[in-house]
Amino acid sequence: MAAAQPKLTVLGSINVDHLLQVDAFPRPGETLTANQYDIVGGGKGANQAVAATKLGANVSMIGCVGKDAIGSQFVADFSAMGMDVSGIEAIEGAATGLAMIYVDANGENNIGIWPGANALLTKAKAAEHQSLIQDADLLLMQLESPIETLIEAAKLAKAAATQVILNPAPAKALPEELLEHVDMLTPNETEAELLTGIKVETLEDAQRAANKLHSDYGIKQVLITLGKRGVWLSQDGQGQQIEGFSVEAKDTTAAGDTFHGGLVTALLEGKPLIDAIVFGQGAAALSVTQMGAQSSIPSRQQTEQFLA
Ligand code: ATP
Repeated sequence: MAAAQPKLTVLGSINVDHLLQVDAFPRPGETLTANQYDIVGGGKGANQAVAATKLGANVSMIGCVGKDAIGSQFVADFSAMGMDVSGIEAIEGAATGLAMIYVDANGENNIGIWPGANALLTKAKAAEHQSLIQDADLLLMQLESPIETLIEAAKLAKAAATQVILNPAPAKALPEELLEHVDMLTPNETEAELLTGIKVETLEDAQRAANKLHSDYGIKQVLITLGKRGVWLSQDGQGQQIEGFSVEAKDTTAAGDTFHGGLVTALLEGKPLIDAIVFGQGAAALSVTQMGAQSSIPSRQQTEQFLA
């Protein structure tokens, strides 16, 4: 009999993204007409869950949507792509979370978020889905859910030897009670600075920030994403850069989320960490060549072709 495929549980946000492409971001008081408008699936939790599903992982998601048309559509779409949606609850009287995103001509983005139903993913709901967390091999979370919920989920995971990866995005100060349960922390440069007080500009800065995260919280693996420069990995007292791929960036929205989906998919397949980082970076590089969040996530086949 074939061994069961390892399981990933993603706990996090589900948003609808309203995407406006503009030549330049509007200044205070300015009204401008966009070149293009799209409504697409987003939210860091959903993006990472969708990325992992599209890239071949066995994924369950824990999250909340509103009892509204877009929320039901997302749950149906996730289910159709093969994700287990039993941990997604539709909440009466709440709106599905939303993000207003401007993308300028350089592919940079500027984002405002309304959490809506995501704010109602309580600690009790994480406990309700204890089995999804404890039966998983890996739990992946971000910071668009209430912190006490993340702490509860991390504790449940650790009690069952489920590996915990925390992508501390968007940037926010975090309690020790959460960080001490994290096996791998994956901040970008801004998030690493906020968590450590060390401005990350050079690779030496990245290592100093990683050292602080190792020593202050006992986090074993720190992986700092450096945009198009790639990733700084620090573990076992050593650091190294794993360079990113050079592509023409159109829209970097969800580059980090696609990277995470690829990283965890490859880790669950038993790939060595460096190879898993390369796989994640290949998927992320492809995603920045397309507009949108979930809509820009490449398939397994596209990623393998790109890396071949
Ligand atoms: P975002 O918030 O835009 O989703 P992030 O800030 O969380 O992203 P980044 O460090 O910008 O994360 O990017 C994550 C990974 O995506 C990088 O390590 C890199 O591999 C890839 N990446 C990001 N931007 C580019 C780019 N312009 N070209 C190629 N690869 C990129």
